[in-house]
Amino acid sequence: MLCGWQLWEWPHVMVEAEFHAIWLSPDGQMVDVTPKLHHETKVLFVSDPRRRYTGATVDNVRLPVRDDQLIRHFIGVSEAITHVLSRGVPTADGHVSVPANEIEPLQQAQQFLGHALLTGLRDHQPCLCGGGRKYKRCHGPELERAFAL
Ligand SMILES: [Zn+2]
Repeated sequence: MLCGWQLWEWPHVMVEAEFHAIWLSPDGQMVDVTPKLHHETKVLFVSDPRRRYTGATVDNVRLPVRDDQLIRHFIGVSEAITHVLSRGVPTADGHVSVPANEIEPLQQAQQFLGHALLTGLRDHQPCLCGGGRKYKRCHGPELERAFAL
């Protein structure tokens, strides 16, 4: 097993590094044996010899590619979700059990922000909720208060 980072680009939003492992064959070929949810045929993998797989959750590293409150909030909510999941109780079927009232508001916020970013929304534009105010005057401050972003 060779540990490292699988790199993702979300154009105009962020670059994300996901802790990842591949198989290094006896003849030195890197083989990614992880099933690809989105049927990618190639991934960008950077090995990191300092890292070992311990079974513990390793959060992704997310870097915004521009200064925008929506992106910062999406990253903050994503980190909060990982934090909640890391405190969860492993179940027999390989999932993690966490209190619904802790995870669901975060997942709803992540879905809202992800959808807003996919539509190309920026923090100075009318909020996706349709309230008429700019995101940074509408759901922006509301999410900051709710999740201490
Ligand atoms: Zn709003």
